[in-house]
Amino acid sequence: MAKQNIHHPKNNPKNIRQDRRELKVSAIENGTVIDHIPPLSVFQVIRILNLDNITNQIMIGTNLDSQKLGKKGIIKVSNKYFESEEINKIALVAPTATLIVIKDYTVVYKAKVEIPDKIKKIVKCINPNCITNHENIPTNFSVIDKEDLRLLCHYCEKVTKKEVINFI
Ligand SMILES: [Zn+2]
Repeated sequence: MAKQNIHHPKNNPKNIRQDRRELKVSAIENGTVIDHIPPLSVFQVIRILNLDNITNQIMIGTNLDSQKLGKKGIIKVSNKYFESEEINKIALVAPTATLIVIKDYTVVYKAKVEIPDKIKKIVKCINPNCITNHENIPTNFSVIDKEDLRLLCHYCEKVTKKEVINFI
């Protein structure tokens, strides 16, 4: 009897490890998982999504092993689905991120975030003299470099770079 138990697939350490790995992603009933975040961007993602100001259950992991990235961060937010503007913010600070939407413990959507060609409203223009910094006009940028993030302002034509990006 004991011998049979040992060989049962459920008792195989490899299978147990696999089960646990899947749990990491699917353990919330409803909500969104942001996976494959560069570890240094985890807390920036929390800030720009205002996750430090909501009452939803949130699980945060960082410096976890990742085959793709070496190390990664993950944020799981229960009962929260992000709008496209929020997803664009995630793409700007964590371009490697994967967005996973879970409903009733089932993955209903899973895709890598994408930096769009145009960014509206969510980023401030770096130019202090830009009209968007003085009047109630939403910012509007063309993304001229997606690798090394560069945003060209539609109004003043100054370039806002990744290193100095400020969200509205
Ligand atoms: Zn501008």
